[in-house]
Amino acid sequence: MASSVKISAVALDFDGVIANLEVDWNDVIRKISKIAGQDIKSLLTFYEANFGVPIYQKVSAEIENIELEALKKTQAVPFIAEFLKSLQEKQVPVYVVSMQTAKVIQVFLNQQELSSYVKEVVTRDRFPSKRAQVDYVTKTVGGRVLFVDDLKRNLISCQDLNVVCFHFQRTKKPKDAQKSWDRILEFIK
Ligand SMILES: [Mg+2]
Repeated sequence: MASSVKISAVALDFDGVIANLEVDWNDVIRKISKIAGQDIKSLLTFYEANFGVPIYQKVSAEIENIELEALKKTQAVPFIAEFLKSLQEKQVPVYVVSMQTAKVIQVFLNQQELSSYVKEVVTRDRFPSKRAQVDYVTKTVGGRVLFVDDLKRNLISCQDLNVVCFHFQRTKKPKDAQKSWDRILEFIK
């Protein structure tokens, strides 16, 4: 374990790490393909390829509505509040890096009373990819960032940045989540 490396900040993915968003993404992709007039296979690829053009805004706004609706049924990942509290006690700043929108993240953090634990929310409104988001965090922090995501594709895309990657297993089970939070905290000295 890379516990000898000094961690300057933690960057947490949102869906699958902080919350389990109740969205049927295959259904969303079908819907969005119609709106965009193209066969979208992956939202991540779509965002990256279309950032800054009008269709991006259109698709992003449509998905934001779905995400905001989903928040009504969305549960926090077990013990996320306790985990964030531990990081605050250790004075390690927390960034949320997410391909959701800032509004979605902020609504959820406010609902769960978690906003005060988060230094900055970095989302698809400003950055077209997870890599661009994490790159921004490493440069802002100016040190090694512990990057936590449930998607291996995202972790791989950031491997060569100034990060330690942690693959979080998406779960709703308190016991499994606790085990992961404990393992992550071992990286923080
Ligand atoms: Mg995720």
